[in-house]
Amino acid sequence: MSAAGPHVPDALSNIATLANDRPRLAAALAELFPDAVRRQSVESVARIEVRGGRRAALTRLAGIDPVAYAATRNHVDGAVTRLSPWIRHGVLSIAEVRDHALARVRVPEDATKLVDELGWRDYWQQVYAALGPAVARDVEPPAAIRRGAPPLSGVPEDVLAGSTGSACIDAFVRRLHETGWLHNHERMWLASWIVHVRGVHWLAGADWFLEHLLDGDPASNHLSWQWVAGTFSAKPYIFNRANLESFTSGVHCAPCPLLGRCDVEGSYEELAARLFSSAPATRGPLRIPPAPPWRPGTRGEQPRRPLVWLTLDALADTSPAAAAHPQSPRIFVFDQGWLAAERPTLKRLAFIAECLSEVGEIEVQRGDPAVILPARSRELGCDGVALADTPCPRVRRQAEAIAAAAPVSVEPWPAFCRRDRVRDLGRFSRYWSQVGRSALEPTASPR
Ligand SMILES: Cc1cc2nc3c(=O)[nH]c(=O)nc-3n(C[C@H](O)[C@H](O)[C@H](O)COP(=O)(O)OP(=O)(O)OC[C@H]3O[C@@H](n4cnc5c(N)ncnc54)[C@H](O)[C@@H]3O)c2cc1C
Repeated sequence: MSAAGPHVPDALSNIATLANDRPRLAAALAELFPDAVRRQSVESVARIEVRGGRRAALTRLAGIDPVAYAATRNHVDGAVTRLSPWIRHGVLSIAEVRDHALARVRVPEDATKLVDELGWRDYWQQVYAALGPAVARDVEPPAAIRRGAPPLSGVPEDVLAGSTGSACIDAFVRRLHETGWLHNHERMWLASWIVHVRGVHWLAGADWFLEHLLDGDPASNHLSWQWVAGTFSAKPYIFNRANLESFTSGVHCAPCPLLGRCDVEGSYEELAARLFSSAPATRGPLRIPPAPPWRPGTRGEQPRRPLVWLTLDALADTSPAAAAHPQSPRIFVFDQGWLAAERPTLKRLAFIAECLSEVGEIEVQRGDPAVILPARSRELGCDGVALADTPCPRVRRQAEAIAAAAPVSVEPWPAFCRRDRVRDLGRFSRYWSQVGRSALEPTASPR
């Protein structure tokens, strides 16, 4: 990372030089982002094994096993890929992961399960592009009415402190806080318990997850919380102790002081009767039309030497805008609006800094991209801005503001599936029945 011009605070431009030294990097970030360190210690970040950047991503990608994945992914010790932090930040594209998975199997069908799960990410991204900031509101009325008081607007203190007394829940919370990653099943159990058992509004839980997850993403996260809550699914997701025990080999339940009398004891029928009223929910069919392709600005001009804007969705030199303009200067902005809204903890900021450190020459700033980008583009002799396509409504708004002053080009990601016939995103099953088959085809190599 290089210092580039008078606007760049030295400390920011220097963070990449610390990328090989986690403790010093965490300490430097703690000074730059004091709010993040209030919620996580420098020492705990230094202990996290996951590192940002393409090198670490490719090492992990090389170890994936689609066949073992299909057989074991629901178990917390299963052969899941743990690629989500790099995929979320565009260090790996889902097409690239799919291609790699296909190359590792005898016939494409052996990679079906992994490709289906990549499909969930693709689906949530499409829904995000269609709904924008509305992913933070109920997508549809709840599928079942919860008994008891109205939902709590915050996550209770005993949950945040990991001191509920429930061994599984406390273990999940501690690990989320310490490492920023949970297995999908653990996320489902934790979200379900918080929403249905503790009666917390799903948005409070989703916002809390977003602060801590290394892969924190409003599309996958908020929409998964809604799927669990039943505000974007046919029924709320609940689990019982038998389910948790079988996919954790009983490690939490055996020593749990609440064994035999915890909140998720019983059959699914008993749990549903305990948690939800028998009154049927009133809701109609859900239809979500896909968003048209996004093109900021109306001028139609394409910059020839743009300033490449690496966003949170595209933190690598292989991401589309950087790859399309190898000679152009690069910039990343720690967006003040994002920092205030999502309150990322130190571990996420360290992951981001490590990704940036592998981009080579890049300017790093903090502030409002809509203000910084046009000015830096001019000062660096560029004729506009280029960025990778993104469903993020904040980035889209900023790019549209930039496009009022300078041409903005949006570079597409490698295609994951063929979506041209999709007219409705109301349910994953409907979406996937239209595009899933095409997702099993590898990316065509350039002629
Ligand atoms: C309440 C809740 C919150 C979640 N929040 C996030 C989030 O903020 N960011 C995030 O990336 N995922 C989120 N997920 C989805 C999923 O749990 C993670 O993507 C997955 O556990 C990451 O581990 P992995 O890389 O080993 O996944 P694997 O099982 O190995 O799957 C490979 C990749 O496919 C994608 N993927 C797999 N399952 C899902 C899914 N259900 N939804 C979306 N993408 C999926 C991910 O990119 C993942 O890296 C959430 C799920 C729940 C239930």
